[in-house]
Amino acid sequence: MKKIITNAMSVDVEDYFQVSALSSKFPQKSWGSQQLRVEIGTHKLLNLFEHHNIKGTFFALGWIAEKCPGLIKAIIDGGHELACHGNLHQRVTDLNKQQFAEDLYRAKSTLEQLSGAGIIGYRAPSFSINETNLWAFDVMKELGIEYSSSTYPIKHDHYGVPDWPRGPYQVLDGLIEIPLTTMVKFGRSFPIAGGGYFRLLPYALSRWALRSFHEKEQRSSVFYVHPWELDEYQPVVQDIGLKTRFRHYVNLHKVEPRLSRLLSDFNWSTMKDVYLNDPKLD
Ligand SMILES: [Zn+2]
Repeated sequence: MKKIITNAMSVDVEDYFQVSALSSKFPQKSWGSQQLRVEIGTHKLLNLFEHHNIKGTFFALGWIAEKCPGLIKAIIDGGHELACHGNLHQRVTDLNKQQFAEDLYRAKSTLEQLSGAGIIGYRAPSFSINETNLWAFDVMKELGIEYSSSTYPIKHDHYGVPDWPRGPYQVLDGLIEIPLTTMVKFGRSFPIAGGGYFRLLPYALSRWALRSFHEKEQRSSVFYVHPWELDEYQPVVQDIGLKTRFRHYVNLHKVEPRLSRLLSDFNWSTMKDVYLNDPKLD
């Protein structure tokens, strides 16, 4: 009998004005005056997960948790795993060790106060952990993080390190790194973990890629999605350049039905369920 592989479903809980690619249009001091829309997409995701009886991991920004405590409660009440996406969505490559520690500490404390439980998962904004800031893992461990999902082993102009390990591995004693999933084809790594690619390509191609990955590698994958990807009526930002504009807005209306198919075509659970206590990790 074929082994059924369970994958990790994750959501980066941030608003459309916090996306790194739009940061020149929305400096952090302007966030308080933007229309808050994160609850719209997050509730759509919560409903979709409930409909498919799936639990996921929600990497929430501390800033969002402070503004929308009810949303954090809804995530917890839905039985999902709450994890941390930092406080102000700053790339770790833009911070020093002390600044990173302060950002993570504040966000983690906010989330723990609201949920009444410990937070053990972290995802760096824009997958911004690379060989220049490996000290970030020491900070995570010191602050009680047990797994990170902060690297993307692909070539991309905004993020990614092409020669990073592709599978989960132990970084330090008590801390594992779970890179976003890629597929190797024609000697190149292709992203199959969600984001713009999932919106751009036909669903059948995403499904084929994930099936091929399972067949070849016999292990779980990590998928990620943002609430704003399910919010087709978000304010459209002008003057951001064609490439950024295309990437951010392409096929927003297709995400909900596509995600629904993805949820029923594969098995899903939280990051913690899929990866912690995995005997296959070295
Ligand atoms: Zn993010």
